[in-house]
Amino acid sequence: MGHYLVKILDAEFINHDVKRFIVERPPEYSFIPGQGSEVAIDLPQWKNEFRSFTFTNLTTQNYLEFMVKIYEDHNGVTKQLGKTNAGADLIIGEPFGAIAYKGPGVFLAGGSGITPFISIFRTLYKENLMRGNKLIYSNKSSEDFILAQELQKMLKKDVIPFFTHERNIGFAPKHIDRYFLIDIIHDFSQYFYLCGPDGFVKDLSKILLDLGANLESLVVEG
Ligand SMILES: Cc1cc2nc3c(=O)[nH]c(=O)nc-3n(C[C@H](O)[C@H](O)[C@H](O)COP(=O)(O)OP(=O)(O)OC[C@H]3O[C@@H](n4cnc5c(N)ncnc54)[C@H](O)[C@@H]3O)c2cc1C
Repeated sequence: MGHYLVKILDAEFINHDVKRFIVERPPEYSFIPGQGSEVAIDLPQWKNEFRSFTFTNLTTQNYLEFMVKIYEDHNGVTKQLGKTNAGADLIIGEPFGAIAYKGPGVFLAGGSGITPFISIFRTLYKENLMRGNKLIYSNKSSEDFILAQELQKMLKKDVIPFFTHERNIGFAPKHIDRYFLIDIIHDFSQYFYLCGPDGFVKDLSKILLDLGANLESLVVEG
């Protein structure tokens, strides 16, 4: 599998813990919206530590963009990426990923699980094909919502934010449950795209199947 050395052209935080990277695009490197690649930092102690990140830009742009949630609580790759800026080199692998657009449906994202949907939505929006798609986007609180303005511009009333830790009575987090989905989704025969923490994808897949979704209509990573 090929590896490519790419320079970071721009890096900036877009909210309190998510950092956006623009990197060089190797010649003839192509990807499908929804795909990402393995990424390592080209420093002696980090160059073998590959982690997966998803491209968020349009396939027609001559750079690659990804957005990384930085975990400051342990000394992993994302903490190091928090300190890595324009001019540094990254190593990327070949594009991979199972999430791809198949047709209108409901997108369910948890936290940084929004990233494969960003490239898909940007592509659909540019081609005027957003109609019939809905996004349910779950975060701990509104400050964690990535690209709120752009998502609202692209999806308008079809973006439904869900906050697990805001306006809670007591301290237990709220979760998207079957009643919430029944309220919002009226047709369970459409496509469902799911991306987020393992528990999020597992729990929501089960609820959707219980409510009549077909296994073949669930688009998930892995
Ligand atoms: C296909 C795919 C695509 C992805 N795309 C993206 C993307 O576009 N953007 C994005 O932000 N993420 C994405 N991820 C997730 C991303 O790969 C992980 O967040 C990243 O690998 C974490 O790397 P790390 O070295 O910082 O943490 P790791 O050391 O790999 O740890 C991973 C997890 O364990 C926890 N953890 C581990 N050790 C400790 C510790 N000592 N203390 C506290 N917590 C700990 C961390 O909180 C974290 O959740 C993707 C994952 C996959 C599989």
